[in-house]
Amino acid sequence: MRDELLTVGEALELVLAKVVPLEAEEVSLEDAAGRILAAAARARVDLPSFAASAMDGFALRAQDAPATLPVVARIAAGRPAVQALEAGQAMSISTGGVVPDGADSVVPVEEVEEREGVVVVPAVREGANIRARGGDLVAGDLVVDAGVRLGPVHLGALAAAGVTHVRCGRRPSVVVAVTGSELRQPGEQLERGQIYDANGVILATQIRSTGAEVERLPPVSDDAEATRAAVARGLEADVLVTSGGVSVGLHDLVRATEAELGVEEIFWRVAVRPGKPVAFGVREQTLVFGLPGNPVSSLVGFELFVRPALLALQGLADPKPEFRPGVLGRSTKLLPGRESLLRARARFDGDSVVLEPLTGQESHMIARAATANALVLVPQGEGDLEAGSPVAYLIL
Ligand code: AMP
Ligand code: MG
Repeated sequence: MRDELLTVGEALELVLAKVVPLEAEEVSLEDAAGRILAAAARARVDLPSFAASAMDGFALRAQDAPATLPVVARIAAGRPAVQALEAGQAMSISTGGVVPDGADSVVPVEEVEEREGVVVVPAVREGANIRARGGDLVAGDLVVDAGVRLGPVHLGALAAAGVTHVRCGRRPSVVVAVTGSELRQPGEQLERGQIYDANGVILATQIRSTGAEVERLPPVSDDAEATRAAVARGLEADVLVTSGGVSVGLHDLVRATEAELGVEEIFWRVAVRPGKPVAFGVREQTLVFGLPGNPVSSLVGFELFVRPALLALQGLADPKPEFRPGVLGRSTKLLPGRESLLRARARFDGDSVVLEPLTGQESHMIARAATANALVLVPQGEGDLEAGSPVAYLIL
């Protein structure tokens, strides 16, 4: 063991190395939103599955135009023409209507003059305003690849391609246990020295946003018995996330209790501010995260380590935090040997995103943090990082 703390990147690699993706299950499209595809999904039909009109207009043969043509049928979307179009004929057709056999182009209604039973059409290019069968993709083509998180557009493409069910990584079960004898629930009366639990709701929200299922335990007081019961419950889940009790204080019981219950600690403490005393371990298939109690530390620790793990468990192809490039708006102090994550407001300025760190960067300042929309990654170093320096940031 070396003395230096792990970097964020090293710690994240250790976490991801312990992730074994959960088994896949079949899910209806309706239930697949936000979930991660475990097997590539392929089209059941050609898209479009027939040559369709792209406009409300008149179907005809390009070689017949310009001309005055008899209108021999009207084709609504969903109702194909009963007869083929013959030379010298036109058929009115709606957007999405089946282009009749024999027709090779559609003239938009805006470009024609319609009189009793006939239509006067200008010259038209062959193929004009016709959506080719299979122009988007053909049956058997890949619609969405494995490892992709399904958003509305993916689901729409799958539905259009006739897919009813997909295979997705199972949702991880996650137990959240906030520790601290001082914690009370909002709504309860606070005695002196007590505080409201913020981490419980933050963590539950973060966890749900990954697609995982949350079980929140009542706040755990700092005694061995209560801690043991909570940890034991958490070890039945795929993932246990605790907050608080992982520092070096007398009442910090979480790591010792976990060790007693068979958790193998992979690391404790990472060279980052906030969130240095973060712990990670495993017992059998259960991943065990010990986040620090300060709400901003817990929040940041989750984004750096727990979210990637929950996404990787579900099979996301690239589960690492999505850092984006930006520019620092104001000079900031570098910390020797420690990366820091500053709460900041991101704004567009020309071609770049400028990040203004908030005042009030202390890790208990959750209300200040609530005015931020970004976490800026400041590298370790000495002296100042000047305004205008390139930085990476996460969207909050
Ligand atoms: P700890 O990591 O247990 O030493 O806690 C560090 C600080 O975070 C202390 O001031 C705690 O009171 C506070 N804290 C711990 N858990 C929570 C929580 N769930 N919500 C808000 N603050 C907390
Ligand atoms: Mg505590």
